[in-house]
Amino acid sequence: MEKDQGFPELALLRATFQSGVTRDLKWRRSQLRAVDAFLVECEGEIAAALHDDLRKSAAELFLTETNYLRGEIRYALKHLKLWMKPHRVSVALAYQPAKAWYSREPYGVVLIMGAWNYPLHLCLAPLVSAIAAGNCVIIKPSELAPHTSAVIAAGLARYLDRKAIAVVEGGVKVVKALLEERFNYIFYTGSEAVGREVMSAAAKHLTPLTLELGGKCPCIVDEHSDIRVAARRIVWAKFLNAGQTCLAPDYVLVHETREAELLRSMEEAIVSYYGDEPRTSPEYPRIVNAFHVRRLASLMEDASIWSGGSTNSDDCYVAPTILCGVTPTSPLMQSEIFGPLLPVIAYKELGEALNIVASKKEPLAIYLFSSDRLVQERVVSGSRSGGVCINDLLFQAVPHGLPFGGVGSSGFGCYHGRFGFETFSWPRSVFHKGLHPDTTLRYPPYSGKTFSVVRRLLHWFG
Ligand code: NAD
Repeated sequence: MEKDQGFPELALLRATFQSGVTRDLKWRRSQLRAVDAFLVECEGEIAAALHDDLRKSAAELFLTETNYLRGEIRYALKHLKLWMKPHRVSVALAYQPAKAWYSREPYGVVLIMGAWNYPLHLCLAPLVSAIAAGNCVIIKPSELAPHTSAVIAAGLARYLDRKAIAVVEGGVKVVKALLEERFNYIFYTGSEAVGREVMSAAAKHLTPLTLELGGKCPCIVDEHSDIRVAARRIVWAKFLNAGQTCLAPDYVLVHETREAELLRSMEEAIVSYYGDEPRTSPEYPRIVNAFHVRRLASLMEDASIWSGGSTNSDDCYVAPTILCGVTPTSPLMQSEIFGPLLPVIAYKELGEALNIVASKKEPLAIYLFSSDRLVQERVVSGSRSGGVCINDLLFQAVPHGLPFGGVGSSGFGCYHGRFGFETFSWPRSVFHKGLHPDTTLRYPPYSGKTFSVVRRLLHWFG
């Protein structure tokens, strides 16, 4: 028996898993449809919560959270039966008569911890994978997006099977107590520092886990690029959610011959999306709290501001800002910015840009704008990251058939589509042997002639 100090829902979830109900295809499908119903029927409540937490617009909410989630649910519903099918594998002649296969088994009771920047998406996308794989789930939404956390807790309790899916709200104290418990899998999204704590808590129980972390995602713009298109796309991806996106371009490396043109075009793009005063734009979100506004303001202290630069901690506002004259040793280049500040660094030749990228820890994504195929190949093969997107940004995370996750310090493990189903399940082998013939060759004593026959048989037919 596991101990469940202070979390009575855990005992209930364990009993539900034990009953086998969550393994049933029908149950999985009904729960996936219920998540979808929650998203559709509670759209207004969800929109209000995200607006209160991050001043997220309805369009951004649709594009980056609900639409993706509904697509992920449809994809899982369409493929689930196939994913659940056992896989037959061949058995060598020497071991016949026998059959062998493996099937994906749900882990049991899993813990999902979300981050505040996409507070709905980062709880519900792993939930879709965990349900598809047949698990019971405890979700711990981020306390830094309290309105969304409350909507998730109330909504899921109304729509989903409460005996199998529970939401625990609260801050660091609650997380620490939760992590004392033994889960069968932990799926964590957030910062590298907390990721280490989660991993060491998981180690105590030998609990397998996925860490979805962040990092400094570079965007390289070479001399063979359409600068106007590159600028529009970079500005869109960077200032979405006011730069608080794990996949946002953290800094731009541009060929020195195109730097001035890129800076001008990005400034124009900012004005065309958010107007001359982004603070009054309904499309421009806010920073999660005043602490992060002050952190971002201090990062700008020693830098040259090309455009933007204003902040207001009462309103949690930081303007979309482009910084130039930045070097790889500037404070802005030391850790993930995670806000609407975009440093631009000029390079002379591609090797120099790749060296800057390699001097940082592995990012979640690398972006490249170049129409030169050799440059594309060189950047992809000469770097490491969770994903790559060429001539655009963020879209490597969109197709449900592509894995989404990091490498090295941007995390490990992945999800989305089948990859999520596999993350929340393990392959269990079954070997089914016929009782006859029961040849004596396999049994000791292995001596002389018998052993030499066994060797030959296994060499030819094993
Ligand atoms: P956060 O503060 O919301 O924390 C994430 C989770 O960790 C929350 O559930 C929180 O309750 C919990 N937590 C916080 N402090 C803790 C502690 N001391 N011990 C145990 N649990 C604790 O989010 P954050 O960490 O500020 O997230 C921002 C980071 O997350 C950035 O680095 C960003 O790049 C990364 N991120 C990664 C992804 C991804 O998919 N890879 C997505 C979003 C954010």
